Amino acid sequence: MGSLADPGVLREVLGRHGFRFSKAMGQNFLINPSVCPRMAAACGAEECAGVLEIGPGVGVLTRELSQAAKKVVSIELDSRLFPVLEETLSGCGNVELVQGDVLKLDLAALIQEKFGGEPICVCANLPYYITSPVIMGLLEGGLPLKSLTVLVQKEAAQRLCAQPGSRECGAVSVSVQYHSRPKLLFEVGRGSFMPPPKVDSAVLRMEMRTSPPVEVPDKAFFFRVARGAFSQRRKTAANAVSAALGAPKPLVEEALRSAGAQPNARAEQLTLEKLAAFSSALWESRPGWA
Ligand code: SAM
Repeated sequence: MGSLADPGVLREVLGRHGFRFSKAMGQNFLINPSVCPRMAAACGAEECAGVLEIGPGVGVLTRELSQAAKKVVSIELDSRLFPVLEETLSGCGNVELVQGDVLKLDLAALIQEKFGGEPICVCANLPYYITSPVIMGLLEGGLPLKSLTVLVQKEAAQRLCAQPGSRECGAVSVSVQYHSRPKLLFEVGRGSFMPPPKVDSAVLRMEMRTSPPVEVPDKAFFFRVARGAFSQRRKTAANAVSAALGAPKPLVEEALRSAGAQPNARAEQLTLEKLAAFSSALWESRPGWA
């Protein structure tokens, strides 16, 4: 079989199986031959017990990962792709396919069962419609992960990489920075996919941190405050957090002041350190309101 990144080969294989792309499942398959080898090389497969892939499609990235890793486990939602994958991955003895929805599977149990709970890396061309929940689930799930290397829409990649304190930052960037060191690796144009999506994409690598970059007394509360602060971007952080948490505004403003921020600051003006100090001060003030 020729390269699956060759549009002619891809069309022939899919045609033979009577496969039609599903927009609802975010099916845009890679047809740029340089992308998968670069992703497989960048994901650090050799340093891990194996690689978890989400959405193998016809297996174009899976085949590269199979060469780079000891073991690959690929989760695919669309059962129509399994006969195709049986054919395209026939020479890849270290690949195991799992049918299911990545958002519903118990990933901790899966990693324990398939990799003995050893640290693994994730490498995936993610379906666009679930980029944020998948990445948040992986980052916040307490899973044994070394890194995530993902192909996502370019704007999502920029948002995920944004530093707290910058304009593009959102609650999701806070979580990314708290759990990992993100780096934008390279861009991938819309013409690199079949069918082509409406926007360009980019590959992002998130190296998981071994210890958090800031101290907070309660992690769940820190993320509640961060999500609250970014929930209404046109409001000040004090107004948004006060509304989201039900905390009196003067106390929230006082917590901002004690974190070294202006009481009328907006969420995107708060660095990770200031957000942490703000949430810590608010945590201390809870006897006054919670
Ligand atoms: N890896 C292939 C490639 O690069 O050509 C396909 C990538 S395509 C953008 C996304 C893949 O994720 C599709 O195969 C789609 O069926 C699968 N998918 C969509 N939703 C999923 C879900 N909730 N869980 C697991 N896989 C899913």
